[in-house]
Amino acid sequence: MQFKILSVVGARPNFIKVAPIHHALSAYSDIEHIICHTGQHFDSRMSDVFFNELGLPVPDYNLEISGGSHADQTARIMIAFEEVMLETEPDIVLVVGDVNSTLACSLVAAKLEVKVVHVEAGLRSFDRSMPEEINRMVTDVISDMLFVTEESGLKNLLKEGKSKEQIFFTGNVMIDSLVRLQPKFEMSQIFSELKVTPCEYVLCTFHRPANVDSKEFLLELQAVLNKIAEKNTIVFPIHPRTKFNLENWEMIKGFSDRVLLTDPIGYIDFLALAGKAKLIITDSGGIQEESTFMGIQCITVRDNTERPVTVDIGTNQLLGRDLQKVSEAALAVLDGKIKKGAIPELWDGKAAERIAAILHTELLKSN
Ligand code: UDP
Repeated sequence: MQFKILSVVGARPNFIKVAPIHHALSAYSDIEHIICHTGQHFDSRMSDVFFNELGLPVPDYNLEISGGSHADQTARIMIAFEEVMLETEPDIVLVVGDVNSTLACSLVAAKLEVKVVHVEAGLRSFDRSMPEEINRMVTDVISDMLFVTEESGLKNLLKEGKSKEQIFFTGNVMIDSLVRLQPKFEMSQIFSELKVTPCEYVLCTFHRPANVDSKEFLLELQAVLNKIAEKNTIVFPIHPRTKFNLENWEMIKGFSDRVLLTDPIGYIDFLALAGKAKLIITDSGGIQEESTFMGIQCITVRDNTERPVTVDIGTNQLLGRDLQKVSEAALAVLDGKIKKGAIPELWDGKAAERIAAILHTELLKSN
């Protein structure tokens, strides 16, 4: 092996984004791909299941760092990742998305003067109260090469002073994973396991601190979900953060019987559920994209989105945190008032191949 690329994963969406890059890099015999798991998400339903389903190898390093405040977690990841950098001496450090691991590891690499590559760069919600927005902005400032998923990313980076030569519009690696696993999720048995009928249920996920860390908001959300459930069964896989709060505030019993509460669902089964939902109600970043790609109606319960293409041309409706509006729009969709959508440019399952080719050329050039 001549070159080394060290990729960082920390949380659920990171595994999904790095997997296709790992597979695409395997076509280059002169590149060794090393994977470092920081441990941000460690529980088997949030981590192991993704490695298995996505065909990712056991990570070369696992820093086993989770929990703590943002500063504490970021600092501990930085200290541990520096050791990995010194041991592996990579030519490139590749980070994805917008979690604390993304920020921590890109900072370490930049300080060691190792080239930083950010995949899913340039997305902006313009809301600095979101921890992810800070992570995105800082990571992009110190990244040498920026791979973007949609045109807004390109525009944002140019506005922030990045040069054209550093930015590559290559498409969406999250969609690569979806496309790769389509034959598998089409065979999923999740419908009979949950006893739900395809195309006859609403799927919802919530995990953003702004939504789930407020008891008042969660209570209001629960009332809205119970109301929607009068019309259609709801499947609600609960993120660990949300579960902790629902349990802490003794809210679990307050859900109607028609709101099916589950643990986080494995990726293949989740995609199967998403692909056959009548409607998705979410505050997730990635699910806005997956629903747009699959042409599934999506209501996003956030004041902003860093993925505007899903609203501009996709099936996503951004309704803010006004739950009255959410309820009305959801009932309208269930009554057949749907938003037509199209698939964004270059969301074709081949983004990782394009990224790998560009990285290979770059490595050949700089060595
Ligand atoms: N996902 C999953 N199981 C679930 C919920 C989500 O596999 O129970 C997947 C989903 O398909 C998407 C990703 O997790 O690809 C999104 O992760 P999350 O919403 O946690 O993070 P975000 O995208 O908001 O950063």
